[in-house]
Amino acid sequence: MGSVGAGASDAVHDPSACPGECERPIAYSLDPQFNADEQLLIEQAMGVWEQGTGGRVCFAPGGRDLVIEKLDRSDELQPWDPEWPRHVALTKGGRIWIVATRVDDPGEYRALVVHELGHRLGIGHIEDTATTYMHSTINDTPQELWKHALLPERDARAFCDVHRCTCAY
Ligand SMILES: [Zn+2]
Repeated sequence: MGSVGAGASDAVHDPSACPGECERPIAYSLDPQFNADEQLLIEQAMGVWEQGTGGRVCFAPGGRDLVIEKLDRSDELQPWDPEWPRHVALTKGGRIWIVATRVDDPGEYRALVVHELGHRLGIGHIEDTATTYMHSTINDTPQELWKHALLPERDARAFCDVHRCTCAY
């Protein structure tokens, strides 16, 4: 009581703010079939969410909260995905499958992974703005998001809606 100054910010801790997720990171494993370039792009895609949510999401290697696997052909999605002919990736439960051979551009590849990670984080498709990674069709993702890999505010807000966080956007 009565203390003001440097320590006072503790008093305004918001109980609805997302907890420090880096204390409970999403522990992930990558299929060893991903080559070094692909692994780097996947890690960059994780960084898009980590930075874009202000650290409310955190990924750490070495666990099975999230397993990302590489597939050679999209028909390998068939057992889990009735719409497999249209898809180059699928997220289900703690797994993401990526059909590598159908993605050529590195920026597109990273955007695809950002999209699938968004699903893993509980976010659905977003069609009320052009500037989102969460279009239902990967080709609708703006080229600027292939190049710059910055999470749009709309996507950060979607994360906060799903996780019921207080977000100052
Ligand atoms: Zn999707």
